Amino acid sequence: MQIKLRPNDDCTNGWSAILHPRTPAPALKEAISADWLVIGAGFAGLATARRLAQNCPNDRIIILEAGVAGDNASGRNSGFAIDVPHNVGSSTAELEKAVNYKRLMNAGIAHLKEVVDTHSIDCSWSQRGKYHCAASAKLVDSLLKHHAEELERLKEPYVWFDRDQLRERLGTSFFRSGIYTPGCILLNPAALTRGLADTLPNNVVLYENSPVTWLDFEGKVHAKTAFGEVRARKLILANNGSIGQLPGFERQLFTVASYASLTHPLSEEQRLRLGNIEEWGVTPANAISGATMRFTQDHRLLIRQQFDYTPSMSVTEQSRIHVRGQHRDVFLSRFPELSDVQMEHFWMGFFSITRNGSPRWGRVRSNTYAAAGCNGVGISKQTVSGVTLADLACGIENPLIDDMYALGEPTRLPPRPLLDLGVKAYLAKECWKGRKEY
Ligand SMILES: Cc1cc2nc3c(=O)[nH]c(=O)nc-3n(C[C@H](O)[C@H](O)[C@H](O)COP(=O)(O)OP(=O)(O)OC[C@H]3O[C@@H](n4cnc5c(N)ncnc54)[C@H](O)[C@@H]3O)c2cc1C
Repeated sequence: MQIKLRPNDDCTNGWSAILHPRTPAPALKEAISADWLVIGAGFAGLATARRLAQNCPNDRIIILEAGVAGDNASGRNSGFAIDVPHNVGSSTAELEKAVNYKRLMNAGIAHLKEVVDTHSIDCSWSQRGKYHCAASAKLVDSLLKHHAEELERLKEPYVWFDRDQLRERLGTSFFRSGIYTPGCILLNPAALTRGLADTLPNNVVLYENSPVTWLDFEGKVHAKTAFGEVRARKLILANNGSIGQLPGFERQLFTVASYASLTHPLSEEQRLRLGNIEEWGVTPANAISGATMRFTQDHRLLIRQQFDYTPSMSVTEQSRIHVRGQHRDVFLSRFPELSDVQMEHFWMGFFSITRNGSPRWGRVRSNTYAAAGCNGVGISKQTVSGVTLADLACGIENPLIDDMYALGEPTRLPPRPLLDLGVKAYLAKECWKGRKEY
């Protein structure tokens, strides 16, 4: 079948713009055959390929990537490798699921840490933890207190901070309360993704700027790009939101866009206006209306804010301009004393969402496996999805496979245009509920 839908992002990414230029791997320009074809060089595809290479050292593994590693969603996110879930229900079953989830996230982080250490990948990796914050009394009561109870039930360490304590640590008085958990890793996601792509084992060959335009996986796997083709025994689909157009994935996931802005490095004098602060990361209690924020190692401030429903995997220039202005307002509401600080970079990216948060993971056909549906938590989650998927595909026992199954399967989405109406209404409702977090 023809593959028409691909992430049509804005070809800008602050995280890679602040790194040294990188020469991508060559595009595919011939007909080749392999044991495994992996589509997508994000956290899911890279982790799967690395693990397949370890599991099957004599197999040939090909990765076809439409764009460039480090400029995909994996390289353009906010750089939080999350370790504990935010929203756990109150039943025993949901608590058990949260325990599975936590084990998986920690395994994903451990896998990344091992690769980062082994290959000395310079991605500003730092276990700074994160602050989960709310500005309004209503959200403190409805979401933060609930989150604290969840952490207690999960026996996770945390510290509750009030406005003055947060001001001292973050340099802003915007938040009423926040919960600090110590396990989250902050990093430069473009540097990490590039590093993972550039240190793949010898039996993995990555082709960048090689979008798959035609794919058949009914029998043997056959994929075509503009100038080449791959025939393989087995297929790994790690192409995030664009997986939804393939047979077997209909009405299971949809894509959203989110946007990020990054300032220039603050001068010493600008930093002093905030107080004596060190690198930090903030996630919003209301993920839809609030802003994810970071103060980076090189003294920049990041804002990630706004979600748009994007079934066509593209956004208009008008939306970009609108959100860019919105980010300025968000920034000034948190840091009014920094009105002279400019946003040096602005970009957006897409990721896939399932209705109930369960990933689209596992065997799809006898020769095909998939890892998609990250629901916005992709660094640790898609990494462990990839590692476990490779073990599943190779028939290797790994207790984490049971944890992946325990996350369940995506519930079916309504058909369009009902889906469009439902998602837009949900986003609008959450924005209204969290309007004071803006
Ligand atoms: C602004 C923003 C902030 C975020 N913040 C965080 C965060 O702080 N922490 C976190 O954990 N997650 C965050 N996320 C989510 C995270 O980025 C994703 O969950 C994660 O990158 C998904 O990884 P992946 O490997 O599944 O997909 P991707 O990184 O999207 O990789 C899929 C790849 O498939 C390729 N592809 C698609 N179609 C084709 C084709 N036809 N042929 C060849 N290749 C193809 C794409 O080019 C892409 O490179 C954020 C996302 C965004 C957009």
